[in-house]
Amino acid sequence: MHVRRQLIAGNWKMNGLRADGLDLARSLAVWLNGDGADVRDHVDMLVCPPATLVAPVAEAVAGTPLGVGGQDCHAVEKGAHTGDVSAWMLKDLGASHVIVGHSERRTDHHETDEQVRAKAAAALAAGLVPIICIGETEGERDAGQALAVVSRQFNGSLPEGANGTNVVIAYEPVWAIGTGRTPTTEDVAEMHQRIRADARERMGASAEALVILYGGSVKPGNAAELMAIDDVDGALVGGASLKATDFQAIASACV
Ligand code: PEP
Repeated sequence: MHVRRQLIAGNWKMNGLRADGLDLARSLAVWLNGDGADVRDHVDMLVCPPATLVAPVAEAVAGTPLGVGGQDCHAVEKGAHTGDVSAWMLKDLGASHVIVGHSERRTDHHETDEQVRAKAAAALAAGLVPIICIGETEGERDAGQALAVVSRQFNGSLPEGANGTNVVIAYEPVWAIGTGRTPTTEDVAEMHQRIRADARERMGASAEALVILYGGSVKPGNAAELMAIDDVDGALVGGASLKATDFQAIASACV
C-alpha cells in the first residue's frame, strides 16, 4: 500500500507530430476511463508533449483523467525572449505541470540550479506544479559523489514557497536516461530516502506528502520492481511513454 498517490508522467521530448500525439493521448484517456479504471483510482497519469502539442492534446483530453504538462518554461511571465514559452502560457493552454531542470536541458542549454529554481518559482507563481529533475552523472556516481550531488541540486533547485503538495521531484540519474541501464533497487532506495530527508529539512512535515519520481529507462519489464521501492512515488518516463501499451503497463505496475 503506497503512502502517497503515485504519478506516472510521460516526457515525449522532441517527438510527435499532431496526428500521432493526438492518437497517443486519446488512447491513454480512453484507457483510463475503461480498462485502466483501476489504475486511475490509484495513480495520476500525465503526458508532457512538445510545446507545439500542449494545446491540441489538452483540448483532446479535457474532462478525462489524463493530465497534460510542459517540458520546460521560461523564468519570467512575458517579454523579449524569442522562442521561449512561459509557465503562464502553458497554464493558459490547460497544462497542470511543467518539467524543469531535465538533464537534457541542463546539458544542451547549460541550465544551472539557480536557473532551474527560477523556472520552478515561475511555475508556482503561474499555478503549475513544477516537476524538478535532479540526478548525478556516471562519473559522479563512480566517484562516490551521487548523494552529495543530488542533495546539492535538490537544495539549489527548490524555489521559495515549495512544499510537499505544490512541487514534484524527479530523481533521474543522467547515465540511466535513454540507455536501458538502471541503478540497483538499493541505490534508488538510498537516494529517495536521502531526498525525503533533505525535504524534511526544507519543508518540515509537508515533506511526507512530497511525490518523488524515479526516472531513467523505466520500462514495463522493470516498473513493478522500481515502483515497489519505499519513497518511490511514481515515474518520469521518456522512451516508453511514446507507446500507449508500454506506458499503460508501467502505470499498471503501480497497483
Ligand atoms: C527522461 O527523459 O526523463 C527519461 C527518463 O527517459 P527514458 O525513460 O527514455 O530513460
